[in-house]
Amino acid sequence: MVIIPDKMRAIIKEKPERGAKLAVVNVPKALGPRDVLVKIYATSICGTDLHIYLWNKWAQEHIKPPQTMGHEFSGEVVAVGKEVSMVQVGDFVSSETHIPCGKCKQCRTGNMHVCQHLKILGVDMDGAFAEYIRVPEVVLWKNDPSVEHIWASVQEPLGNAVHTIFVEDVAGKNVLVTGAGPIGLLGIEVLKTAGVAKLIVSEINSYRRNLAKKIGADVVVNPSQESLIDVVKRETNGDGVDVLIEMSGNKKALTDGLASLTPGGRASLLGVYNDDDVKINLNDLVIFKAIRIYGITGRKMFDTWYKVGALLKNKKLDLSNVITHVLDFENFEEGFRLMEEGKCGKIVLKL
Ligand SMILES: [Zn+2]
Ligand SMILES: [Zn+2]
Repeated sequence: MVIIPDKMRAIIKEKPERGAKLAVVNVPKALGPRDVLVKIYATSICGTDLHIYLWNKWAQEHIKPPQTMGHEFSGEVVAVGKEVSMVQVGDFVSSETHIPCGKCKQCRTGNMHVCQHLKILGVDMDGAFAEYIRVPEVVLWKNDPSVEHIWASVQEPLGNAVHTIFVEDVAGKNVLVTGAGPIGLLGIEVLKTAGVAKLIVSEINSYRRNLAKKIGADVVVNPSQESLIDVVKRETNGDGVDVLIEMSGNKKALTDGLASLTPGGRASLLGVYNDDDVKINLNDLVIFKAIRIYGITGRKMFDTWYKVGALLKNKKLDLSNVITHVLDFENFEEGFRLMEEGKCGKIVLKL
């Protein structure tokens, strides 16, 4: 019998202002029939958490303090509701963070990642920066016991990268990744497994350019010093790349990335743009070049999780270079500082 305490440590957004606080809160022990209580081993910091920490415009519109932050984790099931049947106490789990309604058109047609009534862990409800989290059974993912706790905690952003990249095949193709933030870096690791011909990465941050090179990018470009379009031309015999993986959310990266695509190529856009009104020359960059553009949000549920789970279980990915910092849970301020300065890959907090 596992003894579950009444109180726990949690990193909360206490007030509608910059910052976060370590607090003692109640363990969410009251479980609905399909709820599961998970004891958290490791939880990673996402760009979304940084937005909430910094209290930017998006956070102000979406978060209602006080609330426990965080959504990426791995842990162990310690209690289950009456009707839970997919997991049991003792299972090593992670979780999808998009909680679908199960009833709308998208949910019923294999597209629950774009559910019309989507709720997000750590955004619409208390999250994973805590010793325990309550989640509905429908989003849980059973990890293979051989996967490291820390690696298992980053499967949500890793899934973003996998979804973005594998929406069409990449084998034997020249690929450009614009933006080597944590998800871009995870993407580079994924692309290394996929038989890509040449992998070009553009990134303005020198720390992350170095990481991209270390992880295995063939060519790394600083687009604030060289023309990305010229480098891509030079590296691809003047043809341009077959695939653009846009991870930066930067308008110039998007337009230069599309201009770097060979006619008939494919672009997958995961980066989110600050400016809602991004203008591109659709005629020249897309229509006359017959480019296919995919908007990517979240992970395909649960196709992406099967791919990510299998890649980790079979040791096809090495996340040791991408996860640059494993910090003690209580040292979260250091994590946010590193994220804000961009002097990191993925950061994981260990409980
Ligand atoms: Zn995330
Ligand atoms: Zn739905």
